Amino acid sequence: MEKDVNQLAKLAKDKHNENKKFFDKLKKKPPKNLDYIMQDLHENEFRRTDCLNCANCCKTTGPLFTTADIERIAKHLRLKPQQFIDQYLRVDEDKDYVLQNVPCTFLDADNYCLIYEVRPKACREYPHTDRKKFQQISNLTLKNVAICPAAYNIVEEMKKKISL
Ligand code: SF4
Ligand code: SF4
Repeated sequence: MEKDVNQLAKLAKDKHNENKKFFDKLKKKPPKNLDYIMQDLHENEFRRTDCLNCANCCKTTGPLFTTADIERIAKHLRLKPQQFIDQYLRVDEDKDYVLQNVPCTFLDADNYCLIYEVRPKACREYPHTDRKKFQQISNLTLKNVAICPAAYNIVEEMKKKISL
């Protein structure tokens, strides 16, 4: 069942302590087959998730833009990299390039990404739930479960599947 994104922040808040304890244990003793488990959970979840009905990641949080992202997207938009930076990006507290505004400027009214073919690597990989050595991004995942209903569901399934 798809979660109402408006409820998600509260649901995630209620689960925060439980999730934190789980990830603390996971970091200390990750199962040997964690990469396979995550691949499976990720694929199952995204088979039934339609991101076009959601786009909450694009609406509430933006990606960071690598140099390669900036060059690729600027070329696509027929801008010089510096023009693209000046028009759309700012530097955040971690010294990364991020969007000046959310919802993302490149999100259209039907939740389509206007630069889908050349979108940032971070957008392609979000919510990173099929990433290798998933236990290494626990802090990020604890935040993402409040933004992404699919990540929330994947973490709930993880807790059922992995006994620590
Ligand atoms: S670039 Fe596209 S996928 Fe990435 S946040 Fe913007 S609209 Fe979403
Ligand atoms: S990745 Fe998650 S937050 Fe982004 S559109 Fe898909 S389900 Fe929604």
